[in-house]
Amino acid sequence: MDGLKLNALCVKAVDYKDNKTLLTLCTIEKGKIGAAISGVKSEKSKLRFAASLLCFGEYIFSERGGRYTVTGCTLTDGFFEARNGVERLYSALAVTEILDKTTEEHTDISANIYSALNALKNIAYGENPLGALLEYTVAASAEAGYAIDLKTCAGCGAPAAEGWFDAETGGGVCGACRTRNSVGMSKGAFRLLYNTVYNKKRGIEPRENGVLNSANSGAKTQKNDALNSEDIGAKAQGNEVFSSENSGAKTRRNDALNSGNGSIEIHKNDLEDNLYECLRVVNSYFSACNEVRINALNQLLSLRFFK
Ligand SMILES: [Zn+2]
Repeated sequence: MDGLKLNALCVKAVDYKDNKTLLTLCTIEKGKIGAAISGVKSEKSKLRFAASLLCFGEYIFSERGGRYTVTGCTLTDGFFEARNGVERLYSALAVTEILDKTTEEHTDISANIYSALNALKNIAYGENPLGALLEYTVAASAEAGYAIDLKTCAGCGAPAAEGWFDAETGGGVCGACRTRNSVGMSKGAFRLLYNTVYNKKRGIEPRENGVLNSANSGAKTQKNDALNSEDIGAKAQGNEVFSSENSGAKTRRNDALNSGNGSIEIHKNDLEDNLYECLRVVNSYFSACNEVRINALNQLLSLRFFK
């Protein structure tokens, strides 16, 4: 008899007694589940890959009394290129950790998983892994019910609170409403975060010569056929999250922020600075609003100090 088959991303693996490893698997079909897998600590095990973080595949289970045991797995994508470099690796691990920590069991988290898979694809194979991570953090926060609002001041409601970010209130604040917990953001970082939150990607993708490109190159990754929509229906649903946020977003402010972006030349180092600044802000937001600490994101940010 064939076992139960589920498409799942492995987000956590913990050693357990009797040569067992306990996995947390985010499945498209059944949400987040725990499952045991045996013998994968042995070098000879053919299922070792199935117990490693970032493994996305079709897992096969036996089920007894509501407990799942992994008996097989066909790899769809292990995002192995995400191991090429610490930024990619920590970004990828941050995605799985955020997916794990911002979702509950027994709920449909397929949209979250598609966003995470899309992010992992761009982190592993794309040119702008930090940008892909930033996009994902913003989407995951919105999916968890804590959408970042940068259009109005969280204190007084004045439009376009450019310059200050307040993690406690989840968005921009104006100079008059800022508190000692508000963080000042550089213009470039604020605009990058704004464009990410409202899915205005024009002008924020790096080009090889270090000058920003107006085309949305990073989002189109070619390599990963396995993740294409036919297979698992894995369209980038993160985009839909963004665009639903975006309805009615055509304020004058918005236009002002968008126009001219394509022609502004920002060098790659500036983009990197801005990305780190945005990730730092979103990280503080994760601790304040979502009340989770994302270790991989903290590690990524602390690496920055040693560069
Ligand atoms: Zn205000």
